[in-house]
Amino acid sequence: MNRTTKNPSWNALLVVSLVANLVATGCARTQAPVPPTTEVSGETGEGALSDLDRSVAALTAATCEHGVRTFTCDECRYEVGVVKAEDALFDPKKGGTLELAKVSTRPLVESRDLTGEVRLNEERAVFLGPRAPGVVQAIRVDLGAHVRAGQVLFEVESPDYRQAKADFARATAALGLAEATAAREGELFARRICPQKDLLEAEAARDGARADLRAAKGRLLGLGLGDAEIDAVAAWAGSSGSGLLPVRAPFAGTVLERSLSLGAQALPGDRLLLLADTSKVWVLTTIREREVAAVLEAKARGPVEADVTVPAYPGRSFRGWVDHVGGTLDETTRTAKARVVVENPGNLLRSGMFAKVRLRVASAEGALAVPSEAVLEDEGRSFVFVRLEGPYFVRRPVVVEHSEGGLVEVAGGVKDGDEVVSRGAFLLKSDVLRSKMGAGCAD
Ligand SMILES: [Zn+2]
Repeated sequence: MNRTTKNPSWNALLVVSLVANLVATGCARTQAPVPPTTEVSGETGEGALSDLDRSVAALTAATCEHGVRTFTCDECRYEVGVVKAEDALFDPKKGGTLELAKVSTRPLVESRDLTGEVRLNEERAVFLGPRAPGVVQAIRVDLGAHVRAGQVLFEVESPDYRQAKADFARATAALGLAEATAAREGELFARRICPQKDLLEAEAARDGARADLRAAKGRLLGLGLGDAEIDAVAAWAGSSGSGLLPVRAPFAGTVLERSLSLGAQALPGDRLLLLADTSKVWVLTTIREREVAAVLEAKARGPVEADVTVPAYPGRSFRGWVDHVGGTLDETTRTAKARVVVENPGNLLRSGMFAKVRLRVASAEGALAVPSEAVLEDEGRSFVFVRLEGPYFVRRPVVVEHSEGGLVEVAGGVKDGDEVVSRGAFLLKSDVLRSKMGAGCAD
């Protein structure tokens, strides 16, 4: 046991056969185990070094006691950290269980931890009052209600509204008359029965009536009526009609505050009802001066993602992204204000909550990434199997820097474009371990 644990090099033999399932081949060695300090390779100076500490050039140049390059020798290649895996092992049609992956450069992602406060999305939150003075006559929604865009929230009885409707009806009728008059004068003038002056006067009256109607319609639009409602007012014409002015939801949202009383006087600008779209909320936070540039640069390249947590929901994180970074620095705190837009499913995040924000900032300089299953460990060191040439893969040390979404950022023994064994890499390693044990038995 001591022999294997103290030997930093790869004291094992791996013969990966074309048989798909990487079954251990048992005792493949024909010689007794060699003490760790004397390497069979015949090389001097590097005998005590792990293959992970030797250069690829040194590993491939090594020759073994059988008079061949060590990595090509079925009995000795384990000494230089090399395994042989034929193409069939990567072909699922032939029962292969291994997969290859290319080492790729990805933006380096760093986390920045900030604190902030949950706020309503101010672009989608509004206090509502009537557009004209009136008396509250009907309340159509409860506190906490979800309403759709255009839904009537409450109604006020408004003399101004009643007057505006009457003015519109009158202007509609006046225009009808003026148009008929102008048409008749046109005919008479064509038959030379009337002078042109009469026609011009009739046309001027018609144009004035059109302007009056536009103004009357503008008042109704100003009171919040839509085109369909205005058409209905026109149809209503001379009959009395109601002065009930509806106050509608300008967008879909939730009624967060309501201070309405039936019979109370309501004025434009009164904050009678707070409607907010809470599907997304803001988290207002600050970014330290030395990090502002990194966040701005990352934002220019793409969305800067954020994970937001609040004490109210421990263990739960809300997804967001940086929406805005303030243009000026606070002179005393040396920070810039930043706004993070956060998804708020189920309206769990409430305005005023304290929040922690973790920004994922990708820098311009890339990091090398490999699938996480490519990274293995041996005696506390991480390594990957990199294709050396043909069916030969050499294990190379890597330093794991960051892990996310099934990818691991690594530094060290790989470069962009290298092929590494991803799925099934552990089989190569476990096969090596079985070979290690096999190496200990005598035949
Ligand atoms: Zn050999």
